[in-house]
Amino acid sequence: MLALRKLELGTPLLALEDIPPPQAGPAEVLIEVAYAGICGTDLHIQLDELPSEPPVTLGHEIAGRIAALGEGVEGWQIGEPATSETYFYTCQRCMYCRDGAPNLCPRRRSIGSRENGGFARFLRVPARNLHRLPPQLSLQAATFTEPLACVVHALLEQTSLALGEYCIVSGPGPIGLLCAQVARASGCKVTVLGTAADVKRLAVAGALGFATHSVDEPSLEETLLQQTAGRGADAVIECAGAEASAALALKLVRPRGKYIQVGLFGRSIAWNADLACLKELHITGSNATVPSAWPKAIALLASGAVQTEPLVSEVVPLSEWERAFARLRQKDALKILLQPE
Ligand SMILES: [Zn+2]
Ligand SMILES: [Zn+2]
Repeated sequence: MLALRKLELGTPLLALEDIPPPQAGPAEVLIEVAYAGICGTDLHIQLDELPSEPPVTLGHEIAGRIAALGEGVEGWQIGEPATSETYFYTCQRCMYCRDGAPNLCPRRRSIGSRENGGFARFLRVPARNLHRLPPQLSLQAATFTEPLACVVHALLEQTSLALGEYCIVSGPGPIGLLCAQVARASGCKVTVLGTAADVKRLAVAGALGFATHSVDEPSLEETLLQQTAGRGADAVIECAGAEASAALALKLVRPRGKYIQVGLFGRSIAWNADLACLKELHITGSNATVPSAWPKAIALLASGAVQTEPLVSEVVPLSEWERAFARLRQKDALKILLQPE
């Protein structure tokens, strides 16, 4: 089968390789991948900006159908639609594993970085990682389960959003637009911010019904403050992973408000931590997903509270991965789904 793989460290070369399809071992299943979303993580792994153990097949945002059941797997039928959590291996003994937070297990091994991922026709995963997909949910929409579970964990598990709160999302990428929709589904009034480079992405935010502003607008801070009678935002969600965005979010959040860090910067940034004290902020971070976030994400997708169709810029065959990666690097697209061949 064709698989998009990182072959070695120290080079940005990815390659389509013809590799033998995997076999489902005991307690494992094979998923026939229908679609796999390209994530910022894949772009970072390509450039060694995030760790990986090549040779390895990339891709961790997948949806498909059960294709084979390993020994001892019960409760699943061949052909059933499913998605999978991304931790292929966790120790199941450390305090985090035992506390429902395998995302923090020091020995975790994830698909798409250390174990073969979903940019291929077949994906091998432990059956305990599976989530059933409701019939009304399209497999394209279901590829958003993983990124949406990250957002659910960040916004609804690590902190909380409440009815009537005013919420600012900085950074209109796919994660930012999922955050905005979860905040809206929580009853918040949401404004989305982006830069001049984000024109297309802000247009999608606008089409989803959100108020949008460019950070280059001359009197942006006053405009936003006016919307809250001068108080500031009840919650700011930083999704850009950019220093200027974090500084702006820190300015816009009201005293005793919530500062929610979702984006990764990839380096240390200058950040006025005094404001954390002076404003008595509630600051939270989140790391990927935990199992509890997945059924919530699937429910949000199935109910239509979170729309994904406007976020899909293109669906391309796996062999056209190079053009898709280039579009994403240029911020010319939001989410691109690869279709295995
Ligand atoms: Zn991802
Ligand atoms: Zn563990």
